[in-house]
Amino acid sequence: MPLPWQASQWQTVTAAQQREQLHHAWLVSGSEGVGKRSFVRAWAASLLCDQVDAQQQACGACNSCKMLASGGHPDAHLLSNDGHLGLATDPTLQNEDGLSYWTPKSTSMRRDIAVDAARSLIDKLAITSHRGGMRVVVIHPASDMSDATANALLKTIEEPPARTVLLFVTVFPQGLKQTIRSRCQQLRFAVPSKGEALSWLYGAHPDADAVLLAEAGGAPLKAAAWLASGESKRRALWRNTLQQVAERKSDPLQAAAELARDKAEAGQVLRLWQTQMQLRLREGGVWSARHESFHALLLDGLRRLEDHNANAQLLFESLLLRWRLLAA
Ligand SMILES: [Zn+2]
Repeated sequence: MPLPWQASQWQTVTAAQQREQLHHAWLVSGSEGVGKRSFVRAWAASLLCDQVDAQQQACGACNSCKMLASGGHPDAHLLSNDGHLGLATDPTLQNEDGLSYWTPKSTSMRRDIAVDAARSLIDKLAITSHRGGMRVVVIHPASDMSDATANALLKTIEEPPARTVLLFVTVFPQGLKQTIRSRCQQLRFAVPSKGEALSWLYGAHPDADAVLLAEAGGAPLKAAAWLASGESKRRALWRNTLQQVAERKSDPLQAAAELARDKAEAGQVLRLWQTQMQLRLREGGVWSARHESFHALLLDGLRRLEDHNANAQLLFESLLLRWRLLAA
């Protein structure tokens, strides 16, 4: 099933499907956590299902749906960073929306989507579909294609195999070659309205909250992933520590030791801190030149931390001491 805020995109693709005029190459784009993969999963299932319903949604019960859910559909292909061509199933997310979640089989992620994988997929597409129906190829994340991969797939788009749909999924459409972009039909996903996002999020996770959604940039699936992984709890702790320092209820130096303990986390804390400040600005809170310069210090600290050019403990101590004065 498409997500509640994806009705117009669903209408676009299913109407074309019903007219049998579905374009064979699509560029599916939108920021992280708005539900692109979820949509593509529902769409692929719909294209492959033997008995879709009146809304063109997959039945979830036919052989094709069962094969897809188990990650083994012979006419559904995922081209991803590790070159795996099947649709593997992540057991922790199995049967999400009644369908399988697609993930690379190997844990050793390649940096780009390699051309040898693309070539063997293209060879496979040259023979007819296994089940005599549609074939779906998902390229994700499409902006990770190597140049050679992009060129190989460009030929496929120009001379498409019969009844085959290629779905390029990306957060960064500008990262794709213009020659590919121009041959794809665009399907964009915006961040849903706060109301729609929250109502879905509460349904999926009753312990969700609006602050977390705002920190996720309004992207419901990103917030949901934080809730599922426990990341939301860590974020709440960080938020609480910052607030305690601002309210002079805890010692900045002790808080610095806490927040800087894990170097990998320290960057995330700074990002959260920065988001908190931006939310405050957006919500019309007090924002003076001092806030402005503190915000600049946060960004500078983040950059230095990411360049491995800062002592996290000292950085947090200095920031938290200023933070306390800022709030005073
Ligand atoms: Zn079905």
